[in-house]
This record gives sequence, C-alpha cells and structure tokens, in this order.
Amino acid sequence: MLADLIFVNGRVWTGEPDGKGQVKLQEDCAIATRSGRIIHAGPRKSAPEARKTIDLEGRLVTPGLIDCHTHIVHAGNRANEWQMRLEGASYEEVARAGGGIVSTVKAVRKASEDELVAASLPRLDALIAEGVTTIEVKSGYGLDAENEAKMLRAARRLERTRAITVRTAHLGAHAMPPGAKDKDAYITDVIERQLPLAVGEALVDAVDAFCEGIAFSPEQVARVFDAAHAQGIRVKIHAEQLSNLGGAKLAAKYGALSADHIEYLDSAGIKAMAKAGTVGVLLPGAYYFIKEKRKPPVAALRKAGVPMAVATDCNPGSSPLTSLLLAMNMACTFFGLTPEEALAGVTRHAARALDVLHESGTIAPAKWCDLAIWDVAAPAELSYRIGFNPLWMRVWRGHV
Ligand SMILES: [Zn+2]
Repeated sequence: MLADLIFVNGRVWTGEPDGKGQVKLQEDCAIATRSGRIIHAGPRKSAPEARKTIDLEGRLVTPGLIDCHTHIVHAGNRANEWQMRLEGASYEEVARAGGGIVSTVKAVRKASEDELVAASLPRLDALIAEGVTTIEVKSGYGLDAENEAKMLRAARRLERTRAITVRTAHLGAHAMPPGAKDKDAYITDVIERQLPLAVGEALVDAVDAFCEGIAFSPEQVARVFDAAHAQGIRVKIHAEQLSNLGGAKLAAKYGALSADHIEYLDSAGIKAMAKAGTVGVLLPGAYYFIKEKRKPPVAALRKAGVPMAVATDCNPGSSPLTSLLLAMNMACTFFGLTPEEALAGVTRHAARALDVLHESGTIAPAKWCDLAIWDVAAPAELSYRIGFNPLWMRVWRGHV
C-alpha cells in the first residue's frame, strides 16, 4: 500500500508501553501515513513506499499533545481583579467592583458566537504552536441554556477553523448564575433546559460538574450525572480542589472519564478511581495561580495505578495559562511527576480522559497521524525547560 507521506530517521517516543510499562525510545524509526491515519510506525526497512518523504534527521517524535481540561472559550479576562488583589484589595472589594466568575459570565453572555471564537483563537494558537493536536473545551460561563449552547457552538467552530480535534464538555453545573439563590432549582435548569438543548444540537461529548462548597454538593452533581447517563453521555468532575467532599469517589461510581484538580483527594477516592479506571487530571497552573498549599497525592495515585494526566485548565480566573509545556514543567517541579509521567500525562492518559485513546494519544497503526516533532535530544527536555518551545513540526491527521 502506497503511503501519502513517510517520516524517516526519527527518534520516536510512541507512548505505547512495553510489557514492563516502559516506553522505549525507538531509534531510526519511520512513520507512514495514509488518509490521515498511521499505517506504519517502526523500522524503515519494513515501511511502505510513500509519495513524499520527510527526513527528521534524528529529531524526537512524540504523539501530538492533548490538553484534556480547558475553559479556553471565554470572553474578557480578569487581569483587573488580579491587579486589584495584588494592590491590596480584599475579596469583598473585588466582588463589589464586579470581579469573580460573575464578570466572566457577564462578558460571555454579552459576546456573540463570532466574538467568542475570535477571543479564543489566540489562546488556541498558543497551544497549537506547542504541538497540541487535541483539546477539550468546557462550557460553564453561560449558565443558562442558550449561553451554554453558544459556548459549545463556539468550541465546535474552533475545530472547523484550525487543524485540531476538539472534545467538548457541558459544564452548566460550574457555578450559580448571577442573582440565583436556589442551587437545587438551578440544577433542575441544567437537567431540564440546558442539557436537552446542547445534546439536541450534538454539542456535548461529556458532562462535567464542579463539586465543591462554593459550587455544588455530591447529591446535586449526582442528579446531573444521572441526566447525562440517561442520554448515554459519559461524565467527569472538578473535585477535591479546595476541600474533600468525596466528589471523585462519586464520579468513579458513575464510571467517570476523569476527576480533575484532586488536591484534597483521600484514600477512598483514590481506591474508587483505580477501580473505575478514572483518570486523575492534575492542573498545576491553578495550583500555582491561586497559591494552593495542598498538593495532589501523586505518590498514592502512582501506587494505586491511577493514570495521571496533566492539563492547562486555561481559564480567566484561576489559571490563565496557555502553555501545556509549562504545565508539564510545573507538574514535575510542584507535584513530583517524572518527566516520563508528565509526557504520558499530555498524551496517552490525556487521551483516555477524553475517551479518544482508541484513535489518538499514542503513535500506533490505525490511529490518527497526530505528531509533535521536536528539536530536542531526549523526552525529558520537554518538561525540563521553562518558557522554551522546541517544536519543529506539528502533524494533525497526516497534514503537516
Ligand atoms: Zn476547570
């Protein structure tokens, strides 16, 4: 079979673990692609002929990176309140000045779908420039049926505007909308109005919820998850970020794709996640930006065999971060991940958190040919450098 394109002379980190769970770097490896898919990844001598050849001259090849937790679609920013706080204003003063999540909700409601797309593209382009080929985008700043759907329509438009795969998550259960008081009544709105509209337009790949004292209780989140399952949609959760309400354990009971943040995760939560195969998504950008003291229990997660992903959590309030490479560095420096774990966390495990491991996240035949090609000698250099982007070439579905 004639390949469309073959990359030769690469040093390839496939992301596919061997029998011992190790990923060995493959020297002098060739990757051939046809119709966007990988048809060969291995020694050149057994590779098919191709119409076009690109010599990688020994460069490192990894799977295209996956940012599995972002709020990249939003309007406005919160630099002003950040500045106010650093100049000594109290949270009350910031709130009186219209700060906090309410300000983002107002900006998103005011923005048109076109404006949301335009505001999001520079952030998306920053990730693309670092070799990201798949991202997740959450709603959660509309907080009513029409505005949540508008955010997700904008997310789908990003996929048609750039060479990238977008997975969406409906996050109506993110916060209470401005002026609302009754949380149970709001959850009913999520279930009866928001989800049906968004699901009806095929805008929802997963359903997410924020389980926290300042957000929603495990019981309220369970109602949202029941509604998601009734539609055949898988769930995920923001949990154990500021306290331990048992959200991760609850999510695992629902077979959640991932539990994210998890600084305050306890052993019962870890056990439940390991049993359910729920990915733990680490968000060191938020940990850094809000100056959280508690770290996620990485050693215990590792011991229990819970797959750990790393993401930017790009959002205007607690993680205005558009560098997945920096998130990898932070996951190593703050949380003690090994560079190998950080790389698996933005490829294989991130793919699993988005339910796309069957088609991306590793370099293997039949998967999409999504690659990041780097001007570095060793995979560890991707996490090691701070504020340096060694990307040489990005390939999305076989297109350079
Ligand atoms: Zn988030």
